[in-house]
Amino acid sequence: MKYSIDSKKKVLVTGATGFIAGWLIKKLVEAGVCVHAAVRDPENEQKVAHLKQLSEDGPGTVVLFKADLLETGSYTQSMKGCTTVFHTASPFITKFDDAQKDLIEPALLGTENVLFTASAIASVKRVVLTSSVAAIYGDTVECASIPNGILTENEWNVTSSVKHQPYSYSKVLAERAAWKISEGQDKWSLVVINPAFVIGPSVSGYSTSATHDILRQLSDGTLKAGAPPFEVGVVDVRDVAEAHLRAAYIKKAEGRHIVFNESKSFVNLAGFLTEKYGKDFPLPKKELPKWMLWLVGPIVDKTFSRKMISLNMGHKWRADNGKSIEKLGMTYSSLKASTEEMFQQMIDQGQIVKK
Ligand code: NDP
Repeated sequence: MKYSIDSKKKVLVTGATGFIAGWLIKKLVEAGVCVHAAVRDPENEQKVAHLKQLSEDGPGTVVLFKADLLETGSYTQSMKGCTTVFHTASPFITKFDDAQKDLIEPALLGTENVLFTASAIASVKRVVLTSSVAAIYGDTVECASIPNGILTENEWNVTSSVKHQPYSYSKVLAERAAWKISEGQDKWSLVVINPAFVIGPSVSGYSTSATHDILRQLSDGTLKAGAPPFEVGVVDVRDVAEAHLRAAYIKKAEGRHIVFNESKSFVNLAGFLTEKYGKDFPLPKKELPKWMLWLVGPIVDKTFSRKMISLNMGHKWRADNGKSIEKLGMTYSSLKASTEEMFQQMIDQGQIVKK
């Protein structure tokens, strides 16, 4: 499916320092676009160096703006003159003290903040929201009870809460708020991307996302005795960035889009790495039996509650990526290649060390 990027029109990317945003901005700059990059701390050289480099390489440019999801009106300056807003910013973290404060408020209030600003700024015509498959389902067990056992864009996560799967809850609250704000106006249209688990190298060269924490666990011996029997959809980060571009520039694009290539388990991901890295790293070769995880998991790692294990381990994860292929023209890259590239980059950066 052909689409063209109008390089004369400026765009805003929120959360510009992020893993997904890095590739999105790279593709936009390579197409000649002037990207307004909203970041929390433009003075943090480590986080913004790659954005400055992209701007230098051109042909497009990156202009940094300071903004925070929790500050009302914070995105006004950066949004002025932009036709498209890519709202990617949202905390994707595994370690937090207070789910309400650290995850839910920035996700929900931040989305409201950005989208109300979009309504107030005349130039904005389209908003592309980075939601997640986490807004579609809460626990993997739910796949079995929906029609055909396959998640589609028609499903909504109705089981997560502040106490159970708070990250997923933050994403479903934010996406619901986005649709509500979008339906209350007709100046801009909303298109939503719902990626599954995103892998691949980062543009910045360092790890920003919780995705990197999971890959690190595959290599540091934590899962040597066996990996949790956990399945999830997996997609290359460059494909996710491409889906965002298509959501922005294909005029007819509408609604939500599940974006992933294949369903994989932790052992499958480790399997992609065995050939090249198996000798040097204690990659998991088998899955732990669910009963064992249930018994010892919560003792070893507090994030593994028995409820989490029962509802998510040992269940099949199935979803339909057909809409992304049919309506956005997506094709998906090899997951083996992206797992290897990500792993190698983490070794090169010293984020993964040989035991
Ligand atoms: P990153 O952690 O790399 O990016 C998150 C971005 O959000 C960072 O740029 C961060 O900025 C910004 N952010 C967090 N809190 C605030 C705040 N209070 N104010 C302003 N900015 C803030 O993660 P990803 O690139 O992986 O995630 C991007 C989006 O994709 C998120 O919405 C996430 O939920 C979604 N997603 C990710 C998936 C994945 O597997 N990676 C899967 C599905 C969806 P700072 O650098 O200042 O911390």
